[in-house]
Amino acid sequence: MSIREIREAFNAGSGGPEAALEALAKIVRGESGNGSLNAFLCTVPEDALSEQAARAPTGRLGGVPVAVKDNLATSDLCTTCGSKILEGYVSPYEATAVRRLREAGALVVGKTNMDEFAMGSSNENSAFGPVRNPVDLARVPGGSSGGSAAAVAAGYVPVALGSDTGGSVRQPASFCGVVGVKPTYGRISRYGLVAFGSSLDQIGVLSRSVVDAAEVLGVISGHDPRDSTSSEREVPDLVGACSGDVDGLVIGVPEEYFPDTLDVQVRARCEAALERMEAAGATVRRVSLPHTRYAIPTYYVLATAEASSNLARYDGVRYGFRAPEAASAEAVYCRTRSSGFGAEVKRRIILGTYALSAGYYDAYYGRAQRVRERLACEFADVFAGGVDVLFTPTSPTVAFPLGERVADPVSMYLSDVFTVTANLANLPAISVPVGEVGGLPVGGQFIGPAWGESTMFRAAAALERAMEGSA
Ligand code: GLN
Repeated sequence: MSIREIREAFNAGSGGPEAALEALAKIVRGESGNGSLNAFLCTVPEDALSEQAARAPTGRLGGVPVAVKDNLATSDLCTTCGSKILEGYVSPYEATAVRRLREAGALVVGKTNMDEFAMGSSNENSAFGPVRNPVDLARVPGGSSGGSAAAVAAGYVPVALGSDTGGSVRQPASFCGVVGVKPTYGRISRYGLVAFGSSLDQIGVLSRSVVDAAEVLGVISGHDPRDSTSSEREVPDLVGACSGDVDGLVIGVPEEYFPDTLDVQVRARCEAALERMEAAGATVRRVSLPHTRYAIPTYYVLATAEASSNLARYDGVRYGFRAPEAASAEAVYCRTRSSGFGAEVKRRIILGTYALSAGYYDAYYGRAQRVRERLACEFADVFAGGVDVLFTPTSPTVAFPLGERVADPVSMYLSDVFTVTANLANLPAISVPVGEVGGLPVGGQFIGPAWGESTMFRAAAALERAMEGSA
């Protein structure tokens, strides 16, 4: 069911909670036994969900079951970030986005599996086991919001929240064949989102349709006094934007996002999508964003630097896990962090600490900040030159087999080559299914100008309509 169908039944008093209970039953059934996706780290008990449903107000998300990534604080369920260091941790407060979902009538059914502290592109970095792609169980669902993407793709829930620091909502959405959106930096409060790279992190939405993503994004967006980086700008009518036409819309296609190394089938699906947009009245203009080649190294300096600072708080004293038998304070820190964090998280903390250390700060962190600024200016220039929205592949490949890239971090990092730029430039971006290659979904990405979510949703919904009925 779409959000609108569930809401109408709920608000009329003729159903809705059933949808949530059915979602829960599906999860419990699907997640036990062989073929389990391992998409959830915990779910709400049935009686607690019934209670939630009885108390839920009617509203824009009345009765809608929602899954929430496990790095968003919920006061009734675990918040582990896929890490052993937070195993068993329950937050004393809730993320603003989660609170707004509940106030709009949504029912939170469970917390989804993820790469540890949102670091990864395959969900294989979770301390609680990898998630499987429901389209092909031998393949990864993408990451780091892999559990949320798998839960939506499997039909367990109509929508899920994720977080996107460098592509973690859009890349798994494209691998699982669903819609994934991250808005402009500052559109959604980060209060209660466990920090990874604070200047890049945004909450995002995964759903089966563009309009459902617009519904949820509209509810969770807007200023929050608890996050000074959340914007006071008015939130536009994103659902209304979905029914707009694209006549005269100028779509910029940056050549750097269609390199020779791009999978030929992925390229073909994206080119076909562009042809459909042209048939719907849009104009395609080839553009260039030459600083794109610096995006991955810039991202991996800035994101790791911020992570090394943000993750200093997991010291065995304040949260979750503490290593036993440590005789001194230093031993508590060392042992807790050595055995509580996984390999990728440690790699990032070491990289980030190095980039920030005296003598290297200017050469790495300072320089990366300047490149980030350049990259943002380059995007701004393209939009100022008359381009309404950009279109690119979401990821250079389709979902890869489990295990294929675990031993090679750089090849893993490169799966985000087309998504990190929107985070570095603070721009909104959305991934929409554009077909399949050998049964595996391909995603196309629209990147909008800052605060240009309306245009981006208009383009994405038009593409979704244009793709309907095609393979
Ligand atoms: N895959 C990227 C990384 O590992 C992006 C992660 C994210 O967006 N949270 O950092």
